[in-house]
Amino acid sequence: MLLRHTTKDVKERKALTINPAKTCQPIGAMYAALGIHGCLPHSHGSQGCCSYHRSTLSRHYKEPVMAGTSSFTEGSSVFGGQANLLQSINNIFEVYEPDIIAVHTTCLSETIGDDLVQIIEKARDDGKIPFGKYVIHCNTPSYVGSHVTGYANMVKGIVKGFAESSGEKSKKLNIIAGWVEPSDMREIKRICKMMGVEVIMFPDTSDVMDAPQIGTHEFYPRGGATITDLISVGNSKHSLALGEWATKDAAVELDNRCKVNFSVGELPIGLKATDRFIQALAKYGEVKVPTEVNDERGRLLDVITDMHQYLHGKRVALWGDPDHLIPMAEFLADLDMKPVYIVSGSNGKEFKAKIEKALDGRVPEAKIKNGAQADMFLMHQWIKEEPVDLLIGNTYGKYIARDENTPFVRMGFPILDRIGHSYFPVVGYMGGIRLLEKILNAFMDKQDAESPEESFELVM
Ligand code: SF4
Repeated sequence: MLLRHTTKDVKERKALTINPAKTCQPIGAMYAALGIHGCLPHSHGSQGCCSYHRSTLSRHYKEPVMAGTSSFTEGSSVFGGQANLLQSINNIFEVYEPDIIAVHTTCLSETIGDDLVQIIEKARDDGKIPFGKYVIHCNTPSYVGSHVTGYANMVKGIVKGFAESSGEKSKKLNIIAGWVEPSDMREIKRICKMMGVEVIMFPDTSDVMDAPQIGTHEFYPRGGATITDLISVGNSKHSLALGEWATKDAAVELDNRCKVNFSVGELPIGLKATDRFIQALAKYGEVKVPTEVNDERGRLLDVITDMHQYLHGKRVALWGDPDHLIPMAEFLADLDMKPVYIVSGSNGKEFKAKIEKALDGRVPEAKIKNGAQADMFLMHQWIKEEPVDLLIGNTYGKYIARDENTPFVRMGFPILDRIGHSYFPVVGYMGGIRLLEKILNAFMDKQDAESPEESFELVM
């Protein structure tokens, strides 16, 4: 009900964010750490932060998320959390036996200035890190950036913690996966296999955040990039970084450390971004595109052609992570839809320019904004000014969808009130067909619900 009082009177705001289109940095760091086999994420801060990170991930992925916390008290908040982290590292290796602990900071530990490098070094000197085990880390102050920044920081932390160069290049490509679902990571690996390109993907949350029910609880499910693979990424011949916001820093770090050239592309969402991904795989993997891949592309094209009449000219509001929004805006414009409102809570000067490039002048009326004030309140105000036919974004859009009676396709993070996102991919050509299915279903469900008796059709 509250949202019904949102006005269309947009005023420039400097300090106020209402219903942000982002969440906190450590959540991204925790998700990236779960993409390493045998890794226990550790939140260096209060228990409250850690339970928020874990519960948000659990609610989205419908899987238990294990993580440690330094359990700050008033004392550690004043005098620093070194003693807590040293004790945690000791306890975690003794009790939970991970191969790796991936530590990230929180607002509190950043504000008091805890130095993770020094504390982890001390843990090593004190013999608290058993031989053959790893403690990696990253800094994730949540008063800057977003969950995407936290993901990017931990992916870079993975490179810093593991990558080594033996001096000899392998035939493998690194795929540095942006923040996508475990199903998307599995689909990217399937595409690479179809292409005949050997890859090392990291992080890889498939079989971790969508682990099958096997009757017994496995604290460390079988998925995730292995230590051996993560060390050897320094020998790969090239890195394909998928999603600039989430992966570019890691690709640069790997190049600086081990001289692995890289290219940064969009997440393969939609027709053209998938085309570019396939072309990059063919080029750097030195293979030809096989018929199976061309056939999948042809199927996506066929669905687009068959259903174009329902898509043409439809106005869409989009919100979420920059790496999702850029290829998604391009895909919608390719469908002759009109992504007219696009907001992202994640910072980045390049965002607007990249969306404009993706739209290529096809939606001149588009309003685009990112950063702290690019929130769901602004999105709602724009919609009040001039409505849209479709909403695409995370669960937080459901209030606007209800208030405005607008069809809503859930996509991105977090999705707290539906399932399917972690099992069915949206990347690649097959993912494009799934996105189309969801969009068309949303339109047709509304049409069925609202059409008068004389135009209620069995066949669409
Ligand atoms: S205090 Fe900071 S790190 Fe902790 S939950 Fe809040 S935003 Fe995240």
